[in-house]
This record gives sequence, C-alpha cells and structure tokens, in this order.
Amino acid sequence: MELSYDLVVVGAGTAGIPCAAEAALGGARVLLVEKDQRIGGTLHISGGHMAAAGTRRQAERGIADSAEAHLADIRRISSGTAREDLIALVAENAAETVDWLDERGFAFAPETPRIVYGHEPYGTARTYYGVDEALSILAVYERLLDEAVATGRLDVWKNCPVVDLTVDDRGAVTGVTVLRGGQDVEVRARDVVLATGGFAADPELFLELEGAPLVSAAYPTSTGDGIILARELGAAVTGTGSFLPTFGGLPDPTTPGKANWSDRQLLIAAERPPVEIYVDRSGRRWVAEDEPSIDEKERALTRIEDMTFWTVFDDAMLESTRSGRPLVVGWTPEDLRARAGSREGVHSAGTLEELAAVAGIDPDGLVATAARYNEAVAAGSDPDFGRAHLPLPLERAPFYAIRNHAISLVTFAGLDVGSDLRVLRVDGSPIPHLYAIGEVIGAAATCGQSFCSGMLVTPAITFGRLLGRRLAATA
Ligand SMILES: Cc1cc2nc3c(=O)[nH]c(=O)nc-3n(C[C@H](O)[C@H](O)[C@H](O)COP(=O)(O)OP(=O)(O)OC[C@H]3O[C@@H](n4cnc5c(N)ncnc54)[C@H](O)[C@@H]3O)c2cc1C
Repeated sequence: MELSYDLVVVGAGTAGIPCAAEAALGGARVLLVEKDQRIGGTLHISGGHMAAAGTRRQAERGIADSAEAHLADIRRISSGTAREDLIALVAENAAETVDWLDERGFAFAPETPRIVYGHEPYGTARTYYGVDEALSILAVYERLLDEAVATGRLDVWKNCPVVDLTVDDRGAVTGVTVLRGGQDVEVRARDVVLATGGFAADPELFLELEGAPLVSAAYPTSTGDGIILARELGAAVTGTGSFLPTFGGLPDPTTPGKANWSDRQLLIAAERPPVEIYVDRSGRRWVAEDEPSIDEKERALTRIEDMTFWTVFDDAMLESTRSGRPLVVGWTPEDLRARAGSREGVHSAGTLEELAAVAGIDPDGLVATAARYNEAVAAGSDPDFGRAHLPLPLERAPFYAIRNHAISLVTFAGLDVGSDLRVLRVDGSPIPHLYAIGEVIGAAATCGQSFCSGMLVTPAITFGRLLGRRLAATA
C-alpha cells in the first residue's frame, strides 16, 4: 500500500512540531517523522529563551516595545550580518508566537520578559522563557500534538529516521524514504519540510562547514541530516565562515570532545565580575577578562591555540566568590576544592609551576604571567589588556586551573532558503516542494555572526507555525 500525505515534516523538535500541528489543524493530512525515540529534539536541553516585541505580557507590565525596535537591536547586535528578510519576518510575527504560547498555558518564568546578559543584551526587556526552560515549550507542544492527532489528520512516527528524499525526473521532491521497523518505507507527499536541527553533534560535518574542531554541548540528534539529504539534491549551504563558539562549559567527565553546559563557569562579566585570569596553553593572557562584550571574548577565543584556555585563580580568589556568584554554576568553594584533581579539566596544586604541569600549561609562561598580573593589580592598571577589575593578586596557595574550550551548542551554517522558506539550489532556484525551518537553515540566518537572544528558538517556532498554516491553505 502506498502511503501518501499532503505534507511530511522531518523532525519533531522545536520547529517541526508546530509546523506539523498547525498544518493538520488547518486541514492538511500530515506525517511528522522523528528519528529519536522521543519527540522534542533540542528542547530537552535548550534554555528556550525567546525574544518578541509588542506582546501582551509586555503591555501588562508597561513595557513599550515594537517590532521595529527589535529589528534594530538584532541589526545592531549582529552588525547587520543576519538575513534581513528573515529577521524582519521573525520580528513582525514573534509577538503573535509568544501570545499564542501564552494562550496555550505556557508557564512563563515570572521575571520575564527581561533583558538577558548571557548574550549581547537587547535595549528592552523582551526575552521570555519558561519556569522549566525549553521544557515548558515542550509541555505546550505535547497538548498541541494531542489536539492535532485527535483530528485524524496527523500521524506521528517515532524511532523512524528519514534516510532519503525522493524526486521526480524534474528534480521536484515527491516524498521521503523512512527507515521504519528495519525496513525502508516510501512515503509520498506533496510537500516536505526539513526540520532536522543543526549539526553541532557531528564532528566531521562540523569541521567541513564551520571550519573548526568540535567540542559539542549540542543535543545528540543534531547530526545535520537535513543538510546531508538536501545537498544530494543540489541544495546550497550558506553561513559557512560565521562560526562563533560559546564558552564556559566544563569538559565532559567521560566523553572526549564533549562539554557539559549544565556545569559551566560564569564567565560573563555582567553576571560575575572576574576574580581569575584566563591563560592559553603557553601561559599567556589573551583577553581582558572583564571585557563587557561576550561576543568580543568569543571572537578572541577563536584566535588562540586550539581555542583552549584555562581560568587560573588562587585560594583567596576562590574564597572571595563565597558571598557572590560562584565560579562554576551551583558549585560552592568546597565543591570546587573537592572536585579539583578528580573531575576532568579541574586542577589544583601548591605552586603555580605544579599547577601548570598537571593542567598542561607552560610553567614558565604561567609564572611570568602571574608576576606581571600581580604588578598590574598593585598598580591598579593593566597595560596589557586594559582590564579594569583587578580585585586580588594571584599569590595564595593552593592554586587552581579549569580547562575551557570553545564549545558549540548551535551551528551557524545551514541550508539556503528563500523568504518563503523554500530550499534553494546553488544557482538560487528553489527545489520544488522542499522547505526548511529551524537550525537546519543555520544560526547565521537569524543571528548573523553573533548570538542574539532568543533568535533561534523564536524563528524555529514562528517559521514552523507560519509555514504549517501556509502549506495547509494550499492542501
Ligand atoms: C544547551 C542549549 C541552549 C540553547 N538555548 C537557546 C536559547 O535560550 N534561545 C535560543 O533561541 N536558542 C537556544 N539554543 C538553540 C535552540 O535551542 C536550537 O537552535 C533549536 O531548538 C533547534 O530547533 P530545531 O527544530 O531546528 O531542532 P531540534 O529541536 O533539535 O529538532 C530536530 C529534530 O529532528 C530530528 N531529526 C534529525 N534528523 C532526522 C531524520 N533524519 N529523520 C527524522 N528526524 C530527524 C531530531 O531527532 C530532532 O528531534 C540552545 C541550544 C542548546 C544546545
């Protein structure tokens, strides 16, 4: 028996679920195919921050805001490197997305909307997240899917990777091949939407497209399947060369090449003025640790050897964090002392030379850097990097070092799409009946060469809903 739908959505994550549900609720016959055993994709680990201007929630709190102001902020933060048509589409529709979640019982964290300082901040309080981070979005989605399935127009297949796209002799997409129960199943569809996420869990594709070694803190299903599938049909990949890492995640204790975002150092100056210094493998400092722009620090990190550095501090510095925010999220000074020497990447020693030896830093370089830094603290001025916050010298044993690497939660390269979200070939022509939404189009599309608060989750939901409704209308 041939299986046939109006629409097949590949990937039941942040973008795919609202797309499939809206299409089914709008009257289309839809198949939502998920390779994992559970739905949700990156929502299981994402912060779920969304950004929207002109929402009901802002109005209730007396916050004046507009889509134009949001757009201007995105342009400022990304230095104009994001896709103008796509960021305009997000900014114009984001309030509707957030109001829709609101109507569907989304559990907003009570302090939102607020200005978030984890990335370059917006000028207005317009970032929202749930009490349970992105899982609060998933809770809304689960109810939405039940509703859509109850119409009889939506089928959801789990544990079923899409392994191929089928095309006719004109190159138009006609459906997908799904691996189901160990067998290839052909499914015909008038339209196919790729919502398979990014590729920050695939070292090979990452090296090819982002041009950097991968230390991943991404969701494990983010293996770039949509890019691989569409490239076989001649799809263009855009946003390469926009790579920007995140940093602070501690090395995973068991898996090389992975980092833990839940165990991360607070390295944003606005969140915790730094007591420590940052050194590279040769023991040299490489940035003003109190640089207010996190993007500047992230860019500087891409220029040092292996994109690897160590935060180095002494016992007085560690003790000084007791009354403020911790060095590592959730770790007291006692936790840190106890984990030094046993937790991967966390070291302590009685002297700086010994610390350097156990951590893998050049000992002479570190000793010289500490001496120079202590002169800067005594003088109250840092001639090397212009650091202004110089609270303590590095002199009281024991000394500590925590290894950090540029880590990737998201990927910037992705499938090129038109303003209507159709996948484009290298020559700019659309591949008929093939669409892409979510991180498979690359973070650069909506963030440019920057991290812009909420500008992945918001576009994923917004484009998902808009496209689902549009494709239903033509069913
Ligand atoms: C730790 C972390 C924190 C983040 N915080 C934020 C934040 O606060 N704000 C923000 O805007 N962004 C944030 N991001 C990024 C954002 O969460 C993601 O970009 C977004 O959730 C991706 O949505 P998606 O729908 O494209 O992919 P996903 O949500 O990952 O969904 C893709 C789905 O497709 C499935 N799939 C893949 N290949 C196939 C295949 N061949 N066949 C069938 N199914 C397939 C996957 O299993 C998955 O379920 C964060 C990312 C991480 C990792």
